[in-house]
Amino acid sequence: MRRAHFDVVIAGASLAGCTAATLFARQGLSVVLLEAHRDPNHYKRACTHFIQPTAWPTISRLGLGAAIRQAGGQPNRLSIWTRWGWLDFPGPAGHTGHGEIGVNIRRAQLDPLVRAQAAREPRVTVLMGQRVSQVVVRAGRAVGVRAGDPGRETEYFGRLIVGADGHRSRVADAVGPAVTSPHGRFVYFAPFTGVGLPDDASRMWMLEPDIAYAFPNGEVTILSVMPTLDQLPDFRKDLRGNYFARLGRLPDGPDLSRAEQVGELSGVLNYACAARPPAAPGLALVGDAAMTSDYLWGTGCSFAFRSAAWLVDATAPELIRGADPQVGLRRYATQHRRALAGHHRLMSDYATGRAFNPVERALYAGAVRDPLLARHVAAFGERRIGVRQFLAPGMLARSVLANRPRPTAAA
Ligand SMILES: Cc1cc2nc3c(=O)[nH]c(=O)nc-3n(C[C@H](O)[C@H](O)[C@H](O)COP(=O)(O)OP(=O)(O)OC[C@H]3O[C@@H](n4cnc5c(N)ncnc54)[C@H](O)[C@@H]3O)c2cc1C
Repeated sequence: MRRAHFDVVIAGASLAGCTAATLFARQGLSVVLLEAHRDPNHYKRACTHFIQPTAWPTISRLGLGAAIRQAGGQPNRLSIWTRWGWLDFPGPAGHTGHGEIGVNIRRAQLDPLVRAQAAREPRVTVLMGQRVSQVVVRAGRAVGVRAGDPGRETEYFGRLIVGADGHRSRVADAVGPAVTSPHGRFVYFAPFTGVGLPDDASRMWMLEPDIAYAFPNGEVTILSVMPTLDQLPDFRKDLRGNYFARLGRLPDGPDLSRAEQVGELSGVLNYACAARPPAAPGLALVGDAAMTSDYLWGTGCSFAFRSAAWLVDATAPELIRGADPQVGLRRYATQHRRALAGHHRLMSDYATGRAFNPVERALYAGAVRDPLLARHVAAFGERRIGVRQFLAPGMLARSVLANRPRPTAAA
């Protein structure tokens, strides 16, 4: 069997893998990026293209901000329909007050951009058509991976092995089983041109328990419906009819009178939430490989960008010194857990298909009426603050005040 040696071996050349490869290479480390697909323009189909503003610092660090805008990336200001009214996330279009911009950009554009950026780095070797089949472990430590067509495989050795191979990660098998929770909703979505949306803003309908959303990205608008799983058998009896009927019933829904469907109606029926330890001896997981959260909240891409950058910052100093990156890996795992584990637990709980609980009801209803609470809910939705801060007693008290009955004019 052929053998090759690099400082860092990365499985999966999508958002997380390409980000890690580019940033490791810029620190002077040699990287091999192994991608199962053969087409350099391959992109993830099951995605609705809403990229949170918290991804922006990493996108800027990669040097991709201008290219994303040129490729049609559209600022993604969000409004959420609730039974109490519309909740408009504050700030001028796309800006959060933190100098960061969330964008809607099609993965057909984004993935090749991120991959081409990695391939431009002289220290990155991108190998398409190299499906990783197993992690090579010696003395309890990951030291390499085996990849390539059966019978013509190569072993790639590195001082750090990175699993960026998505929610069905093969590399993650080396760290043990994921903690999974089933998804209680399914989604059908399709791209359209000519959809009428006020301000061209992204819109989400929290219909409790069903959900729908419209994400425009300059070129097309993705329209999605997300009913609870118990409705799937009836829904499938007339897929297109039910999909359009649900879009047509949305309160303040999109104007579809000039809409033209420009791509297939796709469904995702079973996409369990899953979390794994993000690090093990000699090995790290980034993006969906580490944590696959409910796609409803549009957080997966930003988690992929952010976790890859955290990994590089935590482990590169040891790798550059020629040391074992164990301290850095522990630091990465801690940062990952602190920043994302609480969000993941809450998202997984909501993914069961339940309606809002009393606390969420109070906060969302309050946010419709109180701009400060709206900013608070926005900061949480963008995963800028954690669960504890979201549920801070001061904010809950403020939501009780915002929701108290107002005296009527007659009284
Ligand atoms: C219906 C749906 C809608 C979504 N909408 C949004 C949204 O609007 N906003 C958002 O932020 N997130 C969304 N997500 C989540 C988002 O798609 C993922 O979180 C994101 O793509 C994760 O990026 P990644 O780089 O970790 O993994 P991926 O993008 O999944 O990439 C994994 C890469 O690894 C490769 N690979 C897999 N196995 C191997 C192997 N054995 N060897 C080598 N290579 C391998 C794959 O070919 C792929 O290139 C959505 C998800 C779904 C299902």
